[in-house]
Amino acid sequence: MKSIIEQIDQWAIHTPETIAFQNSESSLTYKNLKQQSDALANWIVNNNYSNNPIIVYGHMQIEMISIFLGSVKAGCAYIPVDESIPFERLKKMIANSGATLLITPSEKLEIEIDSITVIKPDELKSILSSTTLNSPLTETFVKDDESFYIIYTSGSTGDPKGVQITERNLRSFSDWILKDFHLQEGQRFLNQAPFSFDLSVMDIYPSLLSGGTLIAVEKSFIERPKVLFEFLMENEIEVWTSTPSFVEMCMMNPNYNEELLPNIKTFLFCGEVLSNNSAKQLLNRFPNASIYNTYGPTEATVAVTFVKITEEIINQYSPLPIGVPKEDTKIYIMDEDGNVLPDGTAGEIVIVGPSVSKGYLNNLAKTDAAYMQINGMRAYKTGDSGYFENGQLFYKGRIDFQVKLHGYRIEIEDIENNIRKLPIVHSAVVLPEMKDGKCIDLHCLVVVKEHDFEKEFHLTRYLKQQLSNFMPSYMIPRKFSYLTSLPMTTNGKVDRKNLMEQIY
Ligand code: AMP
Repeated sequence: MKSIIEQIDQWAIHTPETIAFQNSESSLTYKNLKQQSDALANWIVNNNYSNNPIIVYGHMQIEMISIFLGSVKAGCAYIPVDESIPFERLKKMIANSGATLLITPSEKLEIEIDSITVIKPDELKSILSSTTLNSPLTETFVKDDESFYIIYTSGSTGDPKGVQITERNLRSFSDWILKDFHLQEGQRFLNQAPFSFDLSVMDIYPSLLSGGTLIAVEKSFIERPKVLFEFLMENEIEVWTSTPSFVEMCMMNPNYNEELLPNIKTFLFCGEVLSNNSAKQLLNRFPNASIYNTYGPTEATVAVTFVKITEEIINQYSPLPIGVPKEDTKIYIMDEDGNVLPDGTAGEIVIVGPSVSKGYLNNLAKTDAAYMQINGMRAYKTGDSGYFENGQLFYKGRIDFQVKLHGYRIEIEDIENNIRKLPIVHSAVVLPEMKDGKCIDLHCLVVVKEHDFEKEFHLTRYLKQQLSNFMPSYMIPRKFSYLTSLPMTTNGKVDRKNLMEQIY
């Protein structure tokens, strides 16, 4: 059986001139992708960087996919870090991962870091374009239980956790997407999610493995709907992968429909609740497309359940189901003591199967707390609450303090720990504002020490600016309120319920 890398490389022989990856500025053929990734892999091996994971810092630059593949060809897992991530957080990822090489096609990274060699855009271009070297030997390719990529997610301690996804995990996931979603060879895939978010894996590998074209929508486009729509139209997207939030934003424009995008055949959603209302609207606007709701955490490789959303399903169920597990995976609903609960009873969703990660990189305590073995298979305790009904799985929200805001996974405690570290802050809590079961905003309640700010909005501006040094902007609460103290429960914890009632 061919490895993922070998399967992708085959397109360089079968359809060398097909575009493998394109963004708003340029494109890369399968032939070029193979040449560039081979050249980079040779460079990594020859310079002795093949023992540690490699940080790939950037956004959707045309070199990104070549760097990912070059790394895994050299035997290194890659760690995608979006250029919007603040430097302080990047430093934590470098320290935790032990990476000694950072490759970036982005001009944004200006600061030198002692422990790590940084390959900047000019040097990268020259490495990628070198043709004098031979193809790398397939023996160095990442395979089976070696890590293919590591994605850092929000962690409750204020430090990000690195989820290690092996080649076997990724193969289980990609095989399923290519088999059960009726995708065809050579289709045109939309990539909306930043590469540091595992939703992007749902389009990168199905696209590259089926000889398709991956079309990246950069962040700057998303902020300009007119340009975004023109781009989507011109690029004749056939497979759409996004969060429900992104499609909801698109649907605010009445022109977003089958007439504008007649080529769309498949919608794949994951990452947050798909509401009946959004699904109904979408089905009306794209009556000939197949719409799938899928569910899963980064720790089980993107998604593990799926359901095709039809009118019948929308009318039968509210909320919508998140579907049935993929063939090689089992899902159990468990109580706090690990007992399997019967259908219809809600409990924690536990995922068992070959796409479950081996754990968090260099973080045994967190790994042991979240993973276990069931019948010899790797299992992950999701922290999600759910139940089965008529064979379908339903999502009931989180058991802990994790939220999804605009598709981003955020541990509320991650924000709180960063806020509490600011010298001016005495204590703080962050509360999610919920609507129809979905987090729509974050509200920070702070007790501050003595300060010289005249007005509250000056203080808020200062706190937000300070936080932007430690957290990406999507994690910074929009609203701030100032209290003289935080209410406590009888067991001495902050009384979040009381605060929620006061605020909302
Ligand atoms: P991430 O690791 O960023 O993919 O986030 C995983 C979390 O997103 C899951 O544990 C769920 O809480 C949530 N999630 C993923 N898919 C869905 C879905 N289809 N419906 C509701 N929540 C979802």
